[in-house]
Amino acid sequence: MNTGDKNTAIDTNLRDRVLRDLAVTIPDLVAEPAVSPDGMALEQVVDELIRVARRTVSTRTNAYTVQIIDGVCSLCPNTMFSGHCRMRKSGQCQLYPNIAKVFEVVNQSLLASGDAAFLANHPRPPQDPPKSEDTV
Ligand code: SF4
Repeated sequence: MNTGDKNTAIDTNLRDRVLRDLAVTIPDLVAEPAVSPDGMALEQVVDELIRVARRTVSTRTNAYTVQIIDGVCSLCPNTMFSGHCRMRKSGQCQLYPNIAKVFEVVNQSLLASGDAAFLANHPRPPQDPPKSEDTV
């Protein structure tokens, strides 16, 4: 089932594959409570992870981090009005500290799936995974 136009549609099989690959590689992401206590489950954020991976060509973690803060954290109940998140500071969020690894997995899933929207922006396989020492 498609959920949008040609460039943003996310097929159910693709979503399931990305979720499965993330669960196998980063089990803490799907442990209870998922992603963060009182926050969002991985199933709620996976579409945004796919959209970010499709459009981002940088190998720098910052390029992904700013988009997660904008597209995921802004919708998460743990974000306060100021933009501060106590789960992020305390390390209780499983998504934020794993952003480099998350996109290494999502990129590989989209590449292996032959996802046209991903391949349009990534004609060659990414040479390097996002650099985990590069944080906001
Ligand atoms: S860092 Fe905070 S606001 Fe962002 S997803 Fe994690 S818990 Fe939610």
